[in-house]
Amino acid sequence: MLKAQPQQRHRDRPVVLSVIIPVFNESQGLAYTHERVTEVLDAIPERCEIIYVDDGSKDNSWQLVQQLPESSSDHVGVTLSRNFGKEAAMSAGLQQCRGQAVILLDADLQDPPELIPQMMEAWRKGADVVNMKRRARLGESWFKRLTAASFYKVMNWASEVPVPENVGDFRLMSRQVVDHINQLPERNRYMKGLFAWPGFMQVTLEFDRDPRAVGETKWNYGKLFALAMDGIASFSIRPLRLATWCGLLTALSAFLYGAWVVVKTLAFGEAVSGYPSLMVVQLLIGGIQLLALGLIGEYLGRVVMEVKQRPQYLIREVSHQEGLDAVVSL
Ligand code: UDP
Ligand code: MG
Repeated sequence: MLKAQPQQRHRDRPVVLSVIIPVFNESQGLAYTHERVTEVLDAIPERCEIIYVDDGSKDNSWQLVQQLPESSSDHVGVTLSRNFGKEAAMSAGLQQCRGQAVILLDADLQDPPELIPQMMEAWRKGADVVNMKRRARLGESWFKRLTAASFYKVMNWASEVPVPENVGDFRLMSRQVVDHINQLPERNRYMKGLFAWPGFMQVTLEFDRDPRAVGETKWNYGKLFALAMDGIASFSIRPLRLATWCGLLTALSAFLYGAWVVVKTLAFGEAVSGYPSLMVVQLLIGGIQLLALGLIGEYLGRVVMEVKQRPQYLIREVSHQEGLDAVVSL
């Protein structure tokens, strides 16, 4: 009888799928995440790699990354020299990965790895970007949901490239799209916008986002506000246009009101009064001016950051473990 040959799936074959997982203080859940992800990837016949980008964790996440049990996938560990933020960690992963298809996944299992085969299928059918849209945002407060919804409204009003609503960083991108994103020279990397920017064939799948498996979110409202400002200011100058319109409108009303005051004084004379209206106008105009100045500041600050041309992140160490040859009996 003909004995089935063990199927060698690796080494000489190109990497088809890269899964990038940014990790920041995730020691509690990392082993479980790895287990869930490798389970899914083991069932995929092509060569896969998992890239853990440790974003300068303060706990022992990096040691854990290096000790993760072997699987059929290649494991690449990258650790940054300090905490640069999730956007930078994802950029680092995108620069390192070799796959023809690339998936970004959170380490806290809020993005279920079990959806990977479905995403791969959409990619095989020709999609360049597979956006994963959250149907439900489980485990998030109404305030978070409200602020998120308002953010997408403002963002899409401001930006020329529509950023799909309720689509997080969990998505698949083809090699072509990843190469384009890697070539974008900007330092201020608002990834959700950058992912939408190249266009190509985008497909959106819906999924239910689970609450965090363990630990708690690394984002507070301060960080989220900064991210939102980053998104808006790096993708549009429409707020500046709005400030111009505001200024125009105020100037026009001041002109009309001024004319009225002159006519009124000529016709009826003026007993000194009008303190309340003076105060209101002063405060209003002062407020609008400060707001507009702040807006200009936001853009100016970004220009300063770009001009400095500093790298987005520094890599401290990279570890690589080649996947086991999966022995699949035919
Ligand atoms: N993360 C990171 N650097 C940071 C903050 C977060 O790499 O400075 C990673 C974190 O480990 C996780 C992902 O980004 O894998 C999403 O973070 P989190 O779950 O805290 O955000 P949320 O899901 O609440 O938006
Ligand atoms: Mg999370």
